[in-house]
Amino acid sequence: MISSARTLKKLCVVVPGLNEGDSLHTLYQELMQVLGRAGWTLEIIFIDDGSSDKTLLVCRQLHETNPNFQYISLSRNFGHQRALTAGLDVASGDAIVIMDADLQDPPEVVLEMIKLWEQGVDVVYGQRRSREGETFFKKATAKLFYRVLRLLSGTAIPEDTGDFRLMDIQVVEQLRKLREQGRFLRGLVSWLGFVQKPVFYDRKPRLQGVTKYPFLRMLRFGWDGITAFSSLPLRLATLTGVLFSFAAFVMTVYYTFCKIYYPDDYVPGWASIMVAILGVGGVQLLFTGIVGEYLAKAFEELKERPLYIVRESSVSLPKPEPRGERHP
Ligand code: UDP
Ligand code: MG
Repeated sequence: MISSARTLKKLCVVVPGLNEGDSLHTLYQELMQVLGRAGWTLEIIFIDDGSSDKTLLVCRQLHETNPNFQYISLSRNFGHQRALTAGLDVASGDAIVIMDADLQDPPEVVLEMIKLWEQGVDVVYGQRRSREGETFFKKATAKLFYRVLRLLSGTAIPEDTGDFRLMDIQVVEQLRKLREQGRFLRGLVSWLGFVQKPVFYDRKPRLQGVTKYPFLRMLRFGWDGITAFSSLPLRLATLTGVLFSFAAFVMTVYYTFCKIYYPDDYVPGWASIMVAILGVGGVQLLFTGIVGEYLAKAFEELKERPLYIVRESSVSLPKPEPRGERHP
């Protein structure tokens, strides 16, 4: 929805963090310096995602010095995407920015995002031109992932894009309605539609500490993204089944033919039988596994558990949605 000439009165920055106590002061200062001076109110909402370091202490201090620094502390580690969800649930203002706590997403880019928002763009996402300080492996797998995801999903999720983005409040209000457990926010935002445009930026190295997304967690996240947006892996089972059945049919005809017309030359081939048994068995197991994955996801959704639990917070939290039509 293009409604041009918007003016920003309040900007809200949502930052999730797991054990980022050491970068919190720097992050706060940078945000205040770059985004706090302009003609709008800046609110920062930090979500402590079950940190075991001094994160919560620093949050309390910052809130005392500046009431516009708000925090939500979750009861345990719920993961980046759910921490973000908690922040988005309480965020208010005209536009909401999501960024990481490690300053890999430079706050200066937000100024560019605001300009586009003022021109009527509803979602401005940061697209990475380069990623300093990240391993070749991480860059290569990220690239591959975005390509596969685009290929598999019907939703066009832009490549080389993380969660760093600015969204109009209208978009956030719609996003809040999507309460699925398998959360892949960048995909959900793409799915919502509205006017979406990129801003290109160079991703900086981490301020301090190590990535909270080790390889296996990254893999899990990627798989969540694919399964949330595509049922192609399930359908692949049918396709592969058809191919294998066809191959089996052709082979049956061929071996019958051999047995009838060249009975002397015909030597029972144990090797080929073993290969066929193992191959088919393997493929069957693989696809049973994939079916299981989707079933497990359906099971998770069915339970309708809350997406996160708050232990302490400086903001008032929204009341949980009534269970609605499904459970009258
Ligand atoms: N994070 C979080 N909960 C988690 C994992 C990560 O809140 O369970 C936060 C983390 O503190 C950081 C952001 O999510 O602010 C992105 O994580 P990270 O920088 O480790 O990922 P990377 O940039 O390496 O992909
Ligand atoms: Mg990071």
